[in-house]
Amino acid sequence: MAINQPNILLVYTGGTIGMIKHPETGALKSFDFNNLLKNIPELKLLDCNIETISFKEPIDSSNMNPKYWVQIAEIIEENYDDFDGFVVLHGSDTMSYSASALSFMFENLAKPIIFTGSQLPIGDLRTDAKENLITSIQMASLQKGGKPVIKEVGLYFEYKLYRGNRTVKINAEHFEAFESLNYPHLAESGVHLKVGYNELYKPNTRKKLVVHKNFETNILLIKLFPGISESVLKPLFDIEHIKGVVLETYGAGNTTTELWFTEMLKATIKRGVPIINVTQCSGGSVLMGQYETSTQLKSIGVISGKDITTEAALAKLMFMLGEKVSIKTFKTIFETSLRGEMS
Ligand code: ASP
Repeated sequence: MAINQPNILLVYTGGTIGMIKHPETGALKSFDFNNLLKNIPELKLLDCNIETISFKEPIDSSNMNPKYWVQIAEIIEENYDDFDGFVVLHGSDTMSYSASALSFMFENLAKPIIFTGSQLPIGDLRTDAKENLITSIQMASLQKGGKPVIKEVGLYFEYKLYRGNRTVKINAEHFEAFESLNYPHLAESGVHLKVGYNELYKPNTRKKLVVHKNFETNILLIKLFPGISESVLKPLFDIEHIKGVVLETYGAGNTTTELWFTEMLKATIKRGVPIINVTQCSGGSVLMGQYETSTQLKSIGVISGKDITTEAALAKLMFMLGEKVSIKTFKTIFETSLRGEMS
């Protein structure tokens, strides 16, 4: 390893970036990570030392789950002291969920963990993979006074670095596949790498890194729609082992005011099951009490997700339930920004 150069660990989990087309069916399938690297000789030109670790069996990120989140986190944890930054290659489909989850797992993170992937495989002539990978490594290598510039979980795609837990996948075709509507991007790649220093997360770096690994998956995500019925919804809310609910509501956090609905939520909260109100809108914030159609939610103790994304709300809920946060403090802690995931 060349000295005085940042050491970057590349973690390959799967995703389109490393896929090839099945010759007969044409379906995309993961393949060997070493083949992936052979396609990018440019990596040798970067001013950093790169080492790589791959999932034994790379996955399409549609198969992502908290067990894999722990696997990614443990790879980073075991190598934390030996590397200055981490780049996680991941399918774009669930990248925002994983980036959100990892942000909660790493408390007092003092180094960059950058998620990236691509819309086209690295072997494709018009691939977006090379730029995404190379610039992600450069972002992870950025240093000031011998310390990493980025000290949070980021997501880099199509010339922009975002805070991971603020992102959503917004397009299944465009190279610009992600957006962060409630928080500005952290950096931009053009002729120069432009970093928004004011936007970067500033953790307390004097505190020791703590890696949390417990997630509760017995939760519900309910998206409201006009006509949603009691006969369908009630049995779901009555499931005994449901530990938490994310409710995707209209606009600024509004719902139907039908009595059965409010009573159902009230009974669920009384059972000690937290209900989180997030908006179905891509941008903006929940503000319970702004309309009559959300006042009832506030009064029965529904938790405000404010301007959090659904992806980050799910990860935060699974994380906080996994951490066994008491029901007394659950609301206060959920409504507090833990890793810059809400304003
Ligand atoms: N289905 C792929 C995945 O999420 C899509 C991608 O990588 O962009 O793994």
